[in-house]
Amino acid sequence: MVTFPTSYSRILDKIEAISPEEYGRTRNYIDGSVTRLSPYISRGVISTKMVMEEVMKRQLPWKRVEKFIQELAWRDYWQQVWKAKGSAIDRDLKNPQQGVDNQLIPSAVVNAHTDIDVMDVAIEQLYDTGYMHNHMRMYVAAVACNFGKSHWRMPARWMYYHLLDGDWASNALSWQWVVGANSNKKYFANQANINRYFRSQQRGTFLDQNYEQLSNLDKPEFLTELTSPELVTVLPKSDRFELEADEPLMIYTYYNMDPKWEVGESAQRVLHLDPEVFSRYPVSDAGIRFILDLGENIPDVHLFTGTFEELMDLYGGTDVHFKEHPLNGHYRGVEHARDWMFDVEGYFPSFFAFWKRCMKQMKVYS
Ligand SMILES: Cc1cc2nc3c(=O)[nH]c(=O)nc-3n(C[C@H](O)[C@H](O)[C@H](O)COP(=O)(O)OP(=O)(O)OC[C@H]3O[C@@H](n4cnc5c(N)ncnc54)[C@H](O)[C@@H]3O)c2cc1C
Repeated sequence: MVTFPTSYSRILDKIEAISPEEYGRTRNYIDGSVTRLSPYISRGVISTKMVMEEVMKRQLPWKRVEKFIQELAWRDYWQQVWKAKGSAIDRDLKNPQQGVDNQLIPSAVVNAHTDIDVMDVAIEQLYDTGYMHNHMRMYVAAVACNFGKSHWRMPARWMYYHLLDGDWASNALSWQWVVGANSNKKYFANQANINRYFRSQQRGTFLDQNYEQLSNLDKPEFLTELTSPELVTVLPKSDRFELEADEPLMIYTYYNMDPKWEVGESAQRVLHLDPEVFSRYPVSDAGIRFILDLGENIPDVHLFTGTFEELMDLYGGTDVHFKEHPLNGHYRGVEHARDWMFDVEGYFPSFFAFWKRCMKQMKVYS
């Protein structure tokens, strides 16, 4: 079973183990050489920039690393869209999703009874491990929304809830990409495609058709039952601790668990779990356990559950530090920049427009 160790040294080992060439050739296959680094990048333990620099240090020819670096850049791209557009990413960003007949999610998806064997296994694994392969995420999104005709938002929230790598930008915007709300057409895959990439031999499913037939397919009967899964985060209680008003306060969050952040600075460090954020973007118990375990890498960090104002009341000082993030808009204090792979800021309507700008800077690394 896929597991995600939380000690910093084990995470660094995973970066060492990246095989960028293999990645480029095999990443779309279930047994491909993917990194499974996303839970650590999403939780801000390591950055895309750090991963890129580690790979570039190997001085491999650009052709052999390009695909990997480009995929990594998708993360920054979605984050830049979130930063620029804010909560507008919670709604259809470019085009209204077409063909929607419900705002829920097919029960067959939530119950892992989709008719596609490898998909059912992958959904069970999502519940057990908090991870799903990228290609399967696309297939699941297509089944829930393009065949099940659900609006993307509830299914995206369901998947985000269970992923250890839940990143609302990559999540919401990828779902919108699959359904045509943030792209020009809907994504479809047939059974032959799934069999090829997931090494299965299943036949006779509702997806076992050619693409022309698929694009005209009526909603299969088994996708008509809908559900609204309960997505609630149970937050742990705060630790008992006191803060000194005349010492700096550094705030960690669900998206910033960086043990190297201002390391060596004398400061009080608090992991802040804001109930308001988790009621808007709920995550599972496993997601919460994961960050508490990652917190072990940050010496003397205290857990605080409550609003930012309540944290300020407890602190009583003004020397507050946090990392820039779309969910930290209500924080007051010194905002520290996040690491990005490239010095390319703002909204680009397409990844490839963004990538083109990034490539202009590539000579810095080569
Ligand atoms: C419907 C859907 C929902 C998704 N939801 C999330 C999510 O909540 N959180 C999340 O981190 N990713 C999400 N993704 C993107 C992608 O599936 C994951 O980043 C990837 O599968 C993570 O596994 P990995 O670390 O093994 O990736 P690798 O393939 O090994 O890639 C290395 C790193 O590159 C970045 N990356 C690669 N592909 C993508 C991509 N398509 N989009 C963004 N970044 C990418 C990630 O940081 C990843 O860790 C979603 C994709 C889809 C289609």
